[in-house]
Amino acid sequence: MGRAPLNSVARLRTVDSCIFCSIVAGKSPAHVIYDDEDAFAFMDINPATDGHALVVPRAHIKDLWEIGEDEAGRLMAATVRVAGQIRKALEPDGLNIMHATGAAAFQTVFHFHLHVVPRWYHDPLKLPWVPRPGDRSKIAEVAGKIVAAAG
Ligand code: AMP
Ligand code: ZN
Repeated sequence: MGRAPLNSVARLRTVDSCIFCSIVAGKSPAHVIYDDEDAFAFMDINPATDGHALVVPRAHIKDLWEIGEDEAGRLMAATVRVAGQIRKALEPDGLNIMHATGAAAFQTVFHFHLHVVPRWYHDPLKLPWVPRPGDRSKIAEVAGKIVAAAG
């Protein structure tokens, strides 16, 4: 940890009022568990389970609609490493990656982050929705709209 200096892109994209930018800059406290040139990971202060961590880009990027594909790829590579560290340290039975883009999706900190949540059989977390069969024609209609949007 503490290997690489901030790259010039990350240095440019920092927001003073952002708590995650402040953590990345070392100005706010956090339990840092991983860092590299592009990504940073630290423990969530309101953990859903023991080991709940957040993986964030060093640069201030708001959400999934703002992150570039290359940056997203590097962040996912870091997330795989963090998940491996967590597995080795805590031996969970499984793991969820969660993400929120937008307040409607319950995003509360507007600096992109992936929640890495180790899971154990019989931990108290529940699925956020109840799976029920959908209307097949509606599913097809919506799929058609999304395919058409690919251009
Ligand atoms: P989200 O609701 O997906 O935007 O998640 C934001 C997460 O950031 C929540 O799980 C918070 O508990 C977490 N969080 C907020 N402030 C801090 C902080 N200073 N250090 C660590 N985690 C934080
Ligand atoms: Zn930020």
